[in-house]
Amino acid sequence: MSELNLHHIKKVYPNGFEAVQDFNLDIKDGEFVIFVGPSGCGKSTTLRMVAGLEDISDGDLYIDGKRVNDLDPKDRDIAMVFQSYALYPHMTVRENMEFPLKIAKLPKEEIDSRVAEAAKTLGLESLLDRKPKALSGGQRQRVAMGRAIVRHPKVLLMDEPLSNLDAKLRGQMRVEISKLHEKLGSTIIYVTHDQTEAMTLGDRIVVMSDGEVQQIDTPSNLYQYPVNRFVAGFIGSPQMNFMDVVIKEAGDKVYLTIGDDDILISDEKAAKLKAKGYKNGQSVVLGIRPEDLSDHPEMLAKFPESTAKGKVEVYEMLGSTSNLYVDCNGTQVTAAVDPSTKARVGDVVTLAFNNNNIQIFDKDSNKNILVDLDPNTGTILK
Ligand code: ATP
Repeated sequence: MSELNLHHIKKVYPNGFEAVQDFNLDIKDGEFVIFVGPSGCGKSTTLRMVAGLEDISDGDLYIDGKRVNDLDPKDRDIAMVFQSYALYPHMTVRENMEFPLKIAKLPKEEIDSRVAEAAKTLGLESLLDRKPKALSGGQRQRVAMGRAIVRHPKVLLMDEPLSNLDAKLRGQMRVEISKLHEKLGSTIIYVTHDQTEAMTLGDRIVVMSDGEVQQIDTPSNLYQYPVNRFVAGFIGSPQMNFMDVVIKEAGDKVYLTIGDDDILISDEKAAKLKAKGYKNGQSVVLGIRPEDLSDHPEMLAKFPESTAKGKVEVYEMLGSTSNLYVDCNGTQVTAAVDPSTKARVGDVVTLAFNNNNIQIFDKDSNKNILVDLDPNTGTILK
């Protein structure tokens, strides 16, 4: 168990490519932190710098208050689990898990007890004498985790550990990893490109794009208060809808206009828009999550002045919800609606916008106009 501090960490590869720019993060003891972002955003590079597998070009990395920039990977007390499980094929499960402890020259009784403990934690007791080729993908992944946890590392690093598994197994292993974290209480950094894994596993999530940290916060804050269009689009599934709209002031009320439709926004959001200098006639981008659009009579009655019409182009029945893909004044929007909907392809539907959950982005900077961060802590000012 351990604390980690990344201060102004930067990575420039020898070819001059800046893979990570000014990464700042303080990780608490026992925290489960996720690095998430699209391929090439620099998340693995950052993790590898923490592990010591990649040099840190600039900045300081501390583990439990000690600067470890120049410490060898083996001296950092960190264990890493990779996407390719990297098990030794000629060794049994037991031998694979014993291996790092034998290298560390631990006494035999200690090795036996740690392997037995890890095997119990991970449900591997009946598989200890098998070779990796006689295991399923999920079992192999558990052995790879076992090999990491027997070392009782201060920090556990995981780089896309589930991406070789099929969707169902990924779901199961996600739950296993959550339970493992609960049991071990270790500090974990977990890299993934999958927003569902990030949302379900992380205490806090670091969203990255093009080598830059976009936002660091809890899953629920990222979902409710995305700081910019990138985070808003990356977190949440199906993705948030974005519509080009124009601000329309009418008396005390403020609407966002899309073609012939006006969407009333709440007084609080209108006050923020005005306070930041946005004016009647100005173009902005409206963000609305599919689950905040509805054709249900109750929602239409609740938000009568926040509706837009559109033609249903695709209808998907998913069981607990139905997705409507609707052409709304030339923009395709996705509405995740109640499955009782009568709307089908070709119909014109009226969608109510839950105006409590509307986001508004600046057209040029892509920043969320409604969200402010504390300049010192980077946390949301609610
Ligand atoms: P993925 O999910 O695809 O692994 P990632 O977010 O983990 O993506 P990194 O592996 O950290 O991305 O790579 C970040 C960027 O650095 C990428 O654009 C990559 O091409 C570049 N990069 C990685 N290794 C090197 C290297 N040795 N030399 C130059 N550029 C590199």
